[in-house]
Amino acid sequence: MCGIIGYAGHRPAVPVVVEGLRRLEYRGYDSAGVAFVRQGALRVVRAKGKLAALEEKLAQEPVSTATCAMGHTRWATHGEPNDANAHPHYSQSKTLAIIHNGIIENYNVLREMLRNHDYTFQSDTDTEVLVQLIEYIKQTNHCDLCTAVQLALHEVVGAYAIAVIEKENPDLIVAARKSSPLVIGIRGNERFLASDATPIIEHTKEVVYLND
Ligand code: GLU
Repeated sequence: MCGIIGYAGHRPAVPVVVEGLRRLEYRGYDSAGVAFVRQGALRVVRAKGKLAALEEKLAQEPVSTATCAMGHTRWATHGEPNDANAHPHYSQSKTLAIIHNGIIENYNVLREMLRNHDYTFQSDTDTEVLVQLIEYIKQTNHCDLCTAVQLALHEVVGAYAIAVIEKENPDLIVAARKSSPLVIGIRGNERFLASDATPIIEHTKEVVYLND
């Protein structure tokens, strides 16, 4: 148990996401982080410990122009709780970032395959393997992010709720789930994404519970 929150719309997204993380705190976590695109750069900010540690770091970031962001509270399964293992994780080129709840069971095999293609890893997590795999597939197939995520998940054994954003497409969040809950909230042209409805219901009553 831990949390995922995403927002895409017209409002400053980072405050919406941080407030959402606060509402997900009850699920328990050991670290937290957010990712957003600002002025053409994909930024990841994350911190071990309580949300206050993340907020301290975010206070040094000009975040107000990002209208799409995602956040994560982690409950470590692969790799100790520290800043480097906290989500979101970048892909090698830093053009993609992922958040993930769950476990990628075959991460070892996938990591070896990616190492053979010159991918290096900055964390001990199973999650980082997935974002590298998505990037590898996106580059080798010359496909869009949504297709790359679909193809990558065909290679994955495990349980997951994931959300991925990319530098080139600052208004887009691609999300998927299997055996881990994920809910989408809709309000006009705004979209919310979360691991349960708790952080969404203050914004909208229109929610969609995704199937696997
Ligand atoms: N398995 C991932 C990790 O250890 C995700 C844990 C979670 O569900 O928060 O980083």
